[in-house]
Amino acid sequence: MLIYADNNATTAVAPEAVEAMRPFLSDCYFNPSSMYDSAADVARRLAGFRADVAHFLRAASPAEVLFTSCATESNNTVLFGTSAANPARRHIVTTAVEHPAILEPCRELERRGYAVTYVPVLPTGELDRAAFVRALRPGETLLVSVMHANNETGVIFPVADLARIVKATDPAILFHTDATQSAGKLPLDLSGELSQVDLLSFSGHKMHAPKGVGALYVRKGTPLRPFLLGGHQESGRRAGTENLPYAAALAAACQLATKHLAEMPRVAAMRDDLQTRLQAAIPFLEVNGATQPRTPNTLSLACHFIEGESILYELNERGICASTGSACSSGSLEPSHVLKAMAIPFTAMHGSLRLSFSAYTTQAEIDALANAIPAVVTSLRRLSPYWNEATGTPRAVPAAPAP
Ligand code: PLP
Repeated sequence: MLIYADNNATTAVAPEAVEAMRPFLSDCYFNPSSMYDSAADVARRLAGFRADVAHFLRAASPAEVLFTSCATESNNTVLFGTSAANPARRHIVTTAVEHPAILEPCRELERRGYAVTYVPVLPTGELDRAAFVRALRPGETLLVSVMHANNETGVIFPVADLARIVKATDPAILFHTDATQSAGKLPLDLSGELSQVDLLSFSGHKMHAPKGVGALYVRKGTPLRPFLLGGHQESGRRAGTENLPYAAALAAACQLATKHLAEMPRVAAMRDDLQTRLQAAIPFLEVNGATQPRTPNTLSLACHFIEGESILYELNERGICASTGSACSSGSLEPSHVLKAMAIPFTAMHGSLRLSFSAYTTQAEIDALANAIPAVVTSLRRLSPYWNEATGTPRAVPAAPAP
């Protein structure tokens, strides 16, 4: 049995999304911009998919929804499109724990002369609110971009409150949220709680649509220059012939997400049950972000004295798919920028393990994880000189291979 506990990386494509795509992969292949009835029919259906996404976000109008290729594109569009639309403002505020799809465009804007403030987080994972307020520069700040939920820890930032603070400071500052990890897990209401949010990004493949489709919500009146130039698709705001199959899949995933939201208390209960069992079975285990509101599906652990990659290797041997926060780049193991920003203890920083679930996760999978993870951690620690030094346990010598 394959146990899939890596839903923050990507999700299984829902059968409903596959079915929604099917006609557009065969008979309904027409270009929605063409001038004949079959094309007009496809254009009407595209309008319907846009309305489904708008409904999911509780947007005032489908015209506020742009289909994109992914959340990375949505985020790049926000940073480069708002800066191009208002060159007089040259300061951006974001957080130290954003996804690279925000951090890298910010670094590019810094190279182009922009000032970017990266608001820190506290060791709990909570945003440093005082630093956030201090970062805002009325008359100068162009954009504030704060993720809704963190992809590694699941920690939820109070974006509705933060957007209110921003608008009270200077109503001309734009507020963007990257909702890639909250869409389908937390309710999104751009006409209610999130009514001060101007721009919102999310991605299909984190919510059971295929990889390669996303959306960007742009509140009516928000100044934004297109990031992709070319034809007049998406009301001139994103050129390129529309991807009908994937727009259909995203719309189906948005409809399904409403049902999946109702499943989230069950997912959270399973996550909490697993957390309790692992904490009882594994000494020296940190649960990152545990004191904060978290997305219901995410459990971020840091195991002192061992390496996340070794844990993943052993879990993979047992048919378990999970993730770690450290990234192996150019031969050196860099701990995740999120855990570094949270100042996780050094001996735990490299031993991170992210488990992330979905509405399709079963109790049997949770039970298998509750059994496998302590066994893996125990066996790796027996080989770890750091563990042996810290606990005074003699190091287990691996058996010599048979001659
Ligand atoms: N933003 C966040 C918070 C993410 O977690 C991810 C993907 O992990 C992205 C953006 C990028 O999404 P995509 O793969 O759709 O470009």
